[in-house]
Amino acid sequence: MAKVRVAINGYGTIGKRVADAVTKQPDMVLAGISKTRPSFEARRAAEKGYPLYVAGAGRAADFEAVGLKVAGSLADLLAKADVVVDATPDHVGHENRATYLERGLRAVFQGGEPADVAEASFNALGNYATCRGKRTLRVVSCNTTGIARAVSVLEPRWGVEHWEVTLVRRAADPAESKKGPVNGILPTLHLPSHHGPDVRTIFPDLPIATTALVVPTTLMHVHVNHVRLRNPPDDVSEVIAAFRATPRFHLFAPWEHADGTPQVMEYARDRGIGFNDMMENVIWEEGVRLDKKDLYFFQAIHQESIVVPENIDAIRAMLGLAPDGPSSVAMTDRALGLATKG
Ligand code: NAD
Repeated sequence: MAKVRVAINGYGTIGKRVADAVTKQPDMVLAGISKTRPSFEARRAAEKGYPLYVAGAGRAADFEAVGLKVAGSLADLLAKADVVVDATPDHVGHENRATYLERGLRAVFQGGEPADVAEASFNALGNYATCRGKRTLRVVSCNTTGIARAVSVLEPRWGVEHWEVTLVRRAADPAESKKGPVNGILPTLHLPSHHGPDVRTIFPDLPIATTALVVPTTLMHVHVNHVRLRNPPDDVSEVIAAFRATPRFHLFAPWEHADGTPQVMEYARDRGIGFNDMMENVIWEEGVRLDKKDLYFFQAIHQESIVVPENIDAIRAMLGLAPDGPSSVAMTDRALGLATKG
């Protein structure tokens, strides 16, 4: 079977990671990437041999002036693709939507877009089956992806009566030097935060409420979860075992001394997958507690990379490249070098 040709429109934090991930998949080929202006990221794309196309208000002459070879315009890139992953800044994807659909292209959008940008919101563990064959999908945001994965573990096994999450959000990505806060804690005063409703785009009936704070760190988000289970297990070890057995969860045991997000990301650098990424939900075993029906746990979310495997699975779901969600997840994770389970 011919490999699916994937275009990446928007080559920033998410786009460059998804582009690399596409090149590692046995059933996909990277048609090219788009940039709006020359930059170190455009240079790296050229060094990797990725065909570079000019999008937005960009001008080919500006790239050529600094020695970056341009393969054409966004329209040229789209003409060479079967599917486009839109990883442009929030709301630009919505503007691009008509361009993709006019060309009969399937499109994957990101979580910064409103839910109605696509036929369905997507999470590989959560709703792969219902997303099969869609022409447009929206991979939900980093935080929503993390919560949706955890829901996929707990809800089917023990049922959820009520789920409360406090999201401690990173202020900016590491390369974003113009964002903050540099000092201070900013509560999100709009209650509940938008994350709960966003999770319900995947699990419509989930009784979830979320609140959020932004703190001065760039490494990861941390979620503080309190879940009231309908039929809880006898022992917390069953919950830990369920997380351990699920793809895209990484658990730290107490003896590993991974005290917080600095150690988690140091582990990611030691491991060296992707851009030294941590694409899994990170759970500290020691911080999982079950008190009758009440389950408490923390999870850390590497905002820059958690959605990368989901973008790959979204492509497979749309194009029917895998028989089911677990097969796609296993294929993606094997290709990315993540632990395969199940
Ligand atoms: P980014 O700013 O790092 O990258 C966006 C890229 O698109 C930039 O290179 C920018 O120059 C380029 N661009 C701007 N206008 C364009 C246009 N008209 N056509 C083509 N390219 C254009 O943004 P990001 O963090 O990668 O976010 C992309 C999407 O992913 C957003 O919807 C965001 O909400 C979502 N997302 C981001 C994160 C995160 O933590 N960074 C996590 C999950 C989801």
